[in-house]
This record gives sequence, C-alpha cells and structure tokens, in this order.
Amino acid sequence: MTSLLFNRDPMDVMHEACGVFGIYNNKEAARLTYLGLQQLQHRGQESAGIVSSDGKRFYTHVSMGLVADVFHQAALDKLKGRMAIGHVRYATAGASSLLNAQPIVVMTARGPLAIGHNGNLTNALTLRKKLESQGSIFQTSSDTEVVLHLIAKSPARDLVNAMKDALSQVTGAYSIVLQTPKMIFAARDPWGVRPLHIGRLNGSALIASETCAFDIVNAKLTREVKPGEIVALDHRGVRTVAQMPAPTQAHCVFEFVYFARPDSHIFGKSVYEVRRELGRQLAREAPAKADIVVAVPDSASVAAMGYAEEAKLPLEMGLIRSHYKGRTFIEPKQSIRDFGARMKYAAVVEALKGKRVVLVDDSIVRGTTSRKLIRMLKRAGAKEIHMRVSSPPMMGPCFYGIDTPESNELIATRMSVDGICRYLNTDSLKYLSLEGMLRAAGKKPSDFCSACFTTRYPIPIEDSGRPR
Ligand code: AMP
Repeated sequence: MTSLLFNRDPMDVMHEACGVFGIYNNKEAARLTYLGLQQLQHRGQESAGIVSSDGKRFYTHVSMGLVADVFHQAALDKLKGRMAIGHVRYATAGASSLLNAQPIVVMTARGPLAIGHNGNLTNALTLRKKLESQGSIFQTSSDTEVVLHLIAKSPARDLVNAMKDALSQVTGAYSIVLQTPKMIFAARDPWGVRPLHIGRLNGSALIASETCAFDIVNAKLTREVKPGEIVALDHRGVRTVAQMPAPTQAHCVFEFVYFARPDSHIFGKSVYEVRRELGRQLAREAPAKADIVVAVPDSASVAAMGYAEEAKLPLEMGLIRSHYKGRTFIEPKQSIRDFGARMKYAAVVEALKGKRVVLVDDSIVRGTTSRKLIRMLKRAGAKEIHMRVSSPPMMGPCFYGIDTPESNELIATRMSVDGICRYLNTDSLKYLSLEGMLRAAGKKPSDFCSACFTTRYPIPIEDSGRPR
C-alpha cells in the first residue's frame, strides 16, 4: 500500500512495500500471525499490526515499529478469537504515520471490515478525488482505504460481489487480506505483481505473502492465490469465490533479485534457486580475473555463492553485516567518514588483504552504498575490486509497491556504466543483462514486470502520485 498524503504533493507520497498474513480456525490465531509477521519483517519494518476476531467482534493491535517491539505477551493475550490477519509495512520516504499503519479497520453497512494490503494502486488518487466529491471522508492517506470505500459503497448484494466490484475499478498491484468478524478473504491483482500464498496447518487455513511465514508455524504451502482470484477462508476451507479476467501476468522480478527471502517460494519458484542462478549467469556473462568473491550481505549472499560456484573462485566473507544497529544511531561529534555504512557493514581485513576481489551486489540504486563499501574494502587492503551486479542497471522507479527513489536519483539514469565505474572508484563494473536475469528467473520473460530496469510499465499508471 502507498500513502496519498493529505497535501497531495506528488513528491511527498510515500512508497511502500509490505507483507500480509492471515489465519482461519486456530485457537492460537494471533500468536501464529505474530510469528508469521516476524518472518515477513524484511517486507516492512515501519509498522506492524494484527486484527483478530472471535466471530463477533474484532480485537486490534497496530503500532509503529518492528514486530518484536509492537507485540508483547499482554497485547497478544488481548487478540482473542480463532482468526486473525496481520500486516507489516515499510516506508522510507515521506512522513510515517500510525494512521497509515495496517490492518485498517472500518465500520460499514456490511459490518466491520479489516484490510491489509501489499502493493500499490496506480489510480487511487483519481478514485479518491471522485469518492470525496461524492462525500466520502477518508481517515488515512493510504491508497488501501480507497478499496474499503469502494467495497462499502458498492450496490452489490453480498461482500464477494462488492469486492469484485471494488477491485474491478482499481488498477495496480495488490495482494490483499480482508477480514469480516466471521471469515477471511484474500485477493490478488490480475497481473499477479506481488506474491500471495495459501497454506494449511491441520484444520487451519493460512494466507501469506511469502512461504517463509508458513514454515515458522509448520504450515504447508497449498498453492498461490492466482492472479485475479479472490479466495474465501471459512469453515468450509479455502475456496475460490471469484476469478477476475487475468490475461497477462507481470510478476515483480525484483522480488527474486532482492526483496523476497531466499527460503521462500514465490511465483512457483524457489527464491534461493533463482538467486543462485542469477549469480551463475552473472559469472558466465561477466567473468573477472580475481582471487575471491565477496557478497554484499545479506541480500546478495546467494547470488555471490552462485557467482563463486560458476567462476570456481572461493567465496570469502569479506563483509560482515551488523543486524543490531537499530533504526537510529548516534554519531560521535567528530564525524567519521562513511559512518552510516560502517554501522551496517564491516570489512574483514584477513579475507581481503592483497586480494583481487569480485564484489557481488544484487542492485545499485543511488550508488551511495557501493561507493562507501568499495572505499571500505580498499581501506581493508583489497588490491583490486571488480563489482558485479546480479540485475541490470535500474532505470525507473517502481509504481507497484517496491520502495525505490525517483528516476533522477537512480545513478544509472544519470551516468553510463563506465561513468558509474569511475564514480564508484572500482577497477571494473558489470551488470547482469536483462535477458540473463529473465532466463535465471525461469519463466516466460513476458510473465514478469521488469519495469524498474526497462521503464516499460505493464500496468497503466494513471496517478501513482510519483512523477514519471
Ligand atoms: P544504493 O546505495 O542506493 O545504490 O543502494 C544499493 C543497496 O540497496 C544494495 O545493496 C541493495 O541490496 C539495496 N537495495 C536495493 N533495492 C532496495 C530497496 N528497494 N530498499 C532498500 N534497499 C534496497
């Protein structure tokens, strides 16, 4: 979900990625949702929330912060009932606000509804203006609330048809969990941009953005929610209640490159296997005369392993990532160069000294991280650094729910590969080709959205709120 801030300044719109979870018919619904959300934490670190139901009413706990900080024993004890949905949200740009944290709960003529959304609608501003002109009052600045209004206003007799009616009016990416006091629905946009899965655990039915959220609670993957499908979770199990036309698929290839966790399966593939193949393909396309391969941890670790395997070079842990720096850190008064990067990464002299290093990262966005890392590796004694990137140059922002900066901040829109190489002060720089990336992703290239690399956007962008 994305925020449509009240001042409507397109530059101020937040760009978010999220994770969703749902469970039906489990006496520990809230606790299992909490565990599921912990596993989806990489998809959103700004706020977390759970709404449970005992069949009559909702119990809600939503707050800013990491899952482990938001939920304590007492909070979980209050989340009664055998069903729950949960959400983690990520927003790095724009104001962060508890108002926009999810799940969002509203009262409608159809009864109370709770919703959690991963993705980004691309006509939400237009719809919101229309709804407001008809008298709708919005509580949040998020695009997700538009869906709730459309459902609430739909003339359709039942909730499923109201959902169909609402979703047929929105464009963009959505993987949604929607809860009533009695049941849970899950819906995925017709392009299948973001992942969404159905799982089972004994008599319980589950929904999750990524399968790693099933593993923690010992649930088994049943299948994906199909693009354009709406499923219901109730006492009859999981069933398809609607299938909207879904002629073309546009799975986000960047989920494979960077976003999803390697132990997950998404889009019918193992993220680990795809990421490793990205690294192997990169080594075939862009070999380097080097002594060792080093990953930018953690997101490039698997690709670096694939590179090392194909290049027959040792993989060394030349960079360590600290997981404990927290959200903010205090810098000494006398400022330290690259302090931010050094709080996150440390170079291991013993691995790097005197070595010709292939440094593998999954992507270069603004180029600032790579530049600092390269300086750190050199300071630690690396003799040469050959940077290899397991995706093509990033040429455009994501309008469908990944947090990326605007075009003019993407280094590859401002400089040639040679220019970036000089800026990074690295001995060589090579990116994986688009064809190579899509081959490694292993489906029909036309099944993917690669717009951040090609600027060919498969879903119309009416008013994403982002300048194009
Ligand atoms: P940059 O300094 O902007 O070039 O950042 C590049 C680093 O950010 C790489 O190590 C990527 O793994 C990581 N990265 C790529 N995409 C994202 C994203 N959407 N959010 C946060 N980090 C990202």
